[in-house]
Amino acid sequence: MNFNVLLFLKHLILCSVCIYGDKLTEYVQKPVLVRACIDNATHAFIGCVVAEIILHSLKHQITHQQYYALLFVATIVSSLIDLDHFIVAKSLSLRDATHLDRRPFLHNSAICLVALILVILTKCVGSIKWSLFAVMMFIGFTTHHLRDATRRGIWFKVPFHDSNSPAVPYELYLLLVNIIPHLVHYLMQTTFSSVPKMKQIDLV
Ligand SMILES: [Zn+2]
Repeated sequence: MNFNVLLFLKHLILCSVCIYGDKLTEYVQKPVLVRACIDNATHAFIGCVVAEIILHSLKHQITHQQYYALLFVATIVSSLIDLDHFIVAKSLSLRDATHLDRRPFLHNSAICLVALILVILTKCVGSIKWSLFAVMMFIGFTTHHLRDATRRGIWFKVPFHDSNSPAVPYELYLLLVNIIPHLVHYLMQTTFSSVPKMKQIDLV
């Protein structure tokens, strides 16, 4: 299949997962557990599709096993971030976990900055595998935080600074989630000369 068509289809899938995942989460109010599962699966699926767009473009640089392992990392990180609700609540009750008086620690978007610094540091070492591992962490956190930010804004806490932005407009969230894989690919390309441009890749 032509690369541009395939890429377009992936972005279409990504937008559909974002929009219909949110609509379904809104529609299914009860049981609360089912609602939470749909919400979490949407986070995981978004992370997975964004990671796939990057990894597919790098398929000549990584093995099949690495491809699946990295895809799994992005998917699982996107999903497991919400475990911090239970850790902060010190309870396994969904009600306690969703009624916190503060944002839980894994929702601090300074972590995205740390992940990005890790990508740059591993780039300096020259290891594409470790760079991609850091990229998967970055994708997991940024896609999750951006989706949550449409309801609660971006929370950024570092020493001497603690701020929370207003809710991110939904259209901006969709735009950013779709741009992230291309920004990351560009970042990888500027360091690893063996990384081809997306449009040059022969995809099947
Ligand atoms: Zn969350």
